[in-house]
Amino acid sequence: MSPDDALQKPLPAPDADTAAFWRGLREGKLLLQHCRACGHVQYYQQAMCRACGSEELEHRAASGRGKVHSFSVVHRAPGPAFKADTPYAVLLVELAEGPRMISTFTGGKPEDVTFDMDVELTFDRVAEEITLPRFRRA
Ligand SMILES: [Zn+2]
Repeated sequence: MSPDDALQKPLPAPDADTAAFWRGLREGKLLLQHCRACGHVQYYQQAMCRACGSEELEHRAASGRGKVHSFSVVHRAPGPAFKADTPYAVLLVELAEGPRMISTFTGGKPEDVTFDMDVELTFDRVAEEITLPRFRRA
């Protein structure tokens, strides 16, 4: 690994199950999978409904609204590429549609984050193919 590689943040690699999800983010939509069989809504993309096993899933864009269910502030960077970002807040956001997702806080200081705070989705384009979902105070 060259020193330059160490400064590159690891990026997610879209696969067959998640390609639509990443395309959605590039278009400014956070896609959730809704199960036509049981109504379960899931965030993490996969071929089957985690509640009932049905493959009858359809993508729908999330409203972008949510609440901070839990969070922690990262003071020590997990690698050199993240050093300039610290301290930052890692959020466990409960989306209005139900699923919880891990993301990061943007648009303020990590000290601003509180439990149950209303947040809204923003899109952070970090590479040609990759746009990351992040949250700011609503
Ligand atoms: Zn289901």
